Amino acid sequence: HDIDVPELLAVIAKEATALADEHKLSIQLNAEPGLIMRGDLMQMRSAFSNLIFNAVHYTPDGGQIDVLWQSTPTGAKFSVTDDGDGIAPKHLARLTERFYRVDKARSRKTGGSGLGLAIVKHALSHHDSSLDIESELTVGTTFSFVIPASLTFKK
Ligand code: ATP
Ligand code: MG
Repeated sequence: HDIDVPELLAVIAKEATALADEHKLSIQLNAEPGLIMRGDLMQMRSAFSNLIFNAVHYTPDGGQIDVLWQSTPTGAKFSVTDDGDGIAPKHLARLTERFYRVDKARSRKTGGSGLGLAIVKHALSHHDSSLDIESELTVGTTFSFVIPASLTFKK
C-alpha cells in the first residue's frame, strides 16, 4: 500500500478526541502534507493508533499530546510526545515485551493488556524501523520511529 500518513493520523487523532476531551487532554497534530510511506496499512494503523492511544490513556488529565510526522534526512519521522508522568528508566528496556505494564495498580484502571507496544515493535520491524523511547519522570515521554527514505516519498 501507499499510505497517506497525514490522512491516517488525522483519522486516528479524531478517533482519540472523544476520550481526550473527557480528560481535558489536548492533541496537537503536525503532519507534513503529502508525506507518504509504502507499507502495510493495517500494521501501520495499529502502530500509530497504539502509540497515540497510549499517550491519551497514560497522561494525567489536562495534559498536552503532540503528534509529529515530518521528513528528515534519513526518511520520515513519527513521534508522539506527552507531558505526563514519564516512565522510570528501569522499566524502559522491558516496555515492549508482551504483557509488560509499568504500574499494576495504576495501569489496571485503564484496562490494557500490555500487548500494544509489542504489536508496535512487530509492525515496525516489518518496515525496516524500530521504536525509540525517551522519557523523564514527571516531565513526559516521547515514542518515535523513523521510516527509511526507501519507503517514503512526497506526493
Ligand atoms: P494494551 O495496549 O494492550 O491495551 P497497555 O497499554 O498496558 O495495554 P502497552 O501499550 O504495551 O500496553 O504499554 C505498556 C505499558 O507502558 C503501559 O501499561 C504503561 O504502563 C506504559 N506506557 C505506555 N505508554 C505510556 C506513556 N505515554 N506514558 C506513560 N506510560 C506509558
Ligand atoms: Mg497500550
